[in-house]
Amino acid sequence: MKMICINCPKGCELDVVVNGDDVTVTGHTCPRGEAYGRSEALHPTRMVTGLVRIAGMRKPLPVKTKTAVPKDKIEAVLFAMHQTTVQLPVKIGDVIIPDVAETGVDVVATANM
Ligand code: SF4
Repeated sequence: MKMICINCPKGCELDVVVNGDDVTVTGHTCPRGEAYGRSEALHPTRMVTGLVRIAGMRKPLPVKTKTAVPKDKIEAVLFAMHQTTVQLPVKIGDVIIPDVAETGVDVVATANM
């Protein structure tokens, strides 16, 4: 499979061949590209950003997962964000949803409010 490495602006085009647990990556120009291709082929992950409600306010709070979560958990993460209401005050980095969707990853605030 073809993919673009997103670890730096160079955007190397990777060619990743998966054969069981054996993964061959070509097209990278540094070790990060090989690691990215391998990870994307076997366990794709993504950062998730979203909004949660603030009690008593119209304006929502912007949030994100602290690290990338498995791609197949994105819908559950977005659902958890949708179901959450926070009380102010909130600071950047405050944990808003611990262990979101049982991913082991926290959702944190990305704004001071
Ligand atoms: S392989 Fe290395 S140089 Fe190429 S885009 Fe990825 S991080 Fe950048």
